[in-house]
Amino acid sequence: MFKTKKVEKKKGIFVTMMICQNSNPSESKWGKYSPEDSACENWCEVGAGAVAILCSDCTQRALQNMGSKTVSPDSLL
Ligand SMILES: [Zn+2]
Repeated sequence: MFKTKKVEKKKGIFVTMMICQNSNPSESKWGKYSPEDSACENWCEVGAGAVAILCSDCTQRALQNMGSKTVSPDSLL
C-alpha cells in the first residue's frame, strides 16, 4: 500500500493524494521507469479505492520505453 494524504484543493474541498508507486521501485510493477538512481516523489490525485498510481512523469518514461504501442495510463496500474 502506498502513502496517501488528504489535501485541501479548494476551500472546503479535500482530495486524496497518493504517492507515485515508483516511490518504492522494488514494489512497483513499473519500478524500472522510476527516476534514475532514486525513487519518485510525485503525488497524484486519486479516487476512492485507488491502490496505486503512476505519476505522469513515470508514465511518460514507460510509454517512451514501449515505443509506438498505444497504452492508456490506466493499464499501467
Ligand atoms: Zn512517478
